[in-house]
Amino acid sequence: MSDYISIYQSIQNECKTMAKGTPPVIIAVSKTKPYEVIREAYLQGIREFGENYIPEAIEKFTKLREEFPESIESVHVHHIGPVQSGTLRKLFGIFSYTHGVGSFSSLTELLKRAEKEKKTIRYFLQTNLTSENTKHGFPLETLLLKGDDLLTFQNEYCIWEGFMGMGPSSGDLAQTRDVFTKLASFRNTYFPHKQLSMGMSGDYEMAVELGSNFVRIGSKIFGERDYGTHTV
Ligand SMILES: *Cc1c(COP(=O)(O)O)cnc(C)c1O
Repeated sequence: MSDYISIYQSIQNECKTMAKGTPPVIIAVSKTKPYEVIREAYLQGIREFGENYIPEAIEKFTKLREEFPESIESVHVHHIGPVQSGTLRKLFGIFSYTHGVGSFSSLTELLKRAEKEKKTIRYFLQTNLTSENTKHGFPLETLLLKGDDLLTFQNEYCIWEGFMGMGPSSGDLAQTRDVFTKLASFRNTYFPHKQLSMGMSGDYEMAVELGSNFVRIGSKIFGERDYGTHTV
């Protein structure tokens, strides 16, 4: 079995050195990877996982809880795909966080569901700072218009953690830096107490330099994904 924890810890140490404040949480993105890989990563000590296909995550992490009941307390599963109204009720129970709230209608529904389920979920508003119209998420102007009203989208169970951002799908690093810089400055100016979820395998260094609090790393820890039936 691969040595996931060594890679995880070296990313963690690198981020600790680069971060200006509290070092970021490193989310090991295990999407498309089989249960055996998650089991092994768990045994090696990894506790933060990221998944974007809900049924697949439920299957894998239910199994982990059955085999290691203590993992219920210590493991956080982060949902990193777009939140859809039709499936968001399935987030409750397995996921501690969702990083993909991209519309006010799904947010309203998430809030209602959380109260009904009486299960805590922390969420990130996904922003869209590229001109790609395929990208899900809020333009910063939309968030600016809401201003402090954004703080009202919370209840006892549904907690607003911060903003999530991604560079363009092309992976262009100059454009990615531009996106991360804009989002970080927006956060610092208007919502300094909120967290930032930015950075993936190819761009986490610049994200952390710019103040990211959560980085989402898949291929660098687990290797390339075999794009099977469900990826995004
Ligand atoms: C897959 C995915 C990641 C991880 O991507 P890598 O490039 O493999 O690190 C991070 N964030 C989101 C939203 C993803 O879908």
